[in-house]
Amino acid sequence: MIEEQDAGYRIGIGTDIHRIVEGRKLMLCGVYVPYPAGLAGHSDGDVGLHAVIDALLGASGMGDIGTLFPDTDPALKDVDSKELLFVVKEQLEEKKWEVVNVDLIIHTEEPKLGPFKGQMKRCIAGLLGIDFTAVNVKAKTNEEFGDIGAGEAMAATATALIRKKRRRTL
Ligand code: MG
Repeated sequence: MIEEQDAGYRIGIGTDIHRIVEGRKLMLCGVYVPYPAGLAGHSDGDVGLHAVIDALLGASGMGDIGTLFPDTDPALKDVDSKELLFVVKEQLEEKKWEVVNVDLIIHTEEPKLGPFKGQMKRCIAGLLGIDFTAVNVKAKTNEEFGDIGAGEAMAATATALIRKKRRRTL
């Protein structure tokens, strides 16, 4: 007899914004994007991964990125945000959560991200151990409105769906 526990689903949302500054490498969703400026931040400033992390922490009820990885921690100075996402993925696994899918929007006037979306999806999917098709990356301009429209900041919005791993009794 196979008994399957009812799978519990949870959804989470995450947003982030970082200032665009000269002298930093532009890292988005774990991918280096050639551009004359990058994102300010205590970490590598990867606004895309930060939004995904907050969506996963929200879905699992595990708090937020600022509490888990404080920007006052010297050990996290210029940290690769892929490492942070991997830590979160491990914490989800400890609590028997698995990621169903992730949807992400990068809000920026420049650069055009079309050529990098495939790599970004592969990077996030690889870190989370899920299929490439379960990650979606979109890019939107802000129609020249506000700080994003002026090219002074880049933001991201993400949602994530997770479910409890099924327990099987044979
Ligand atoms: Mg951030």
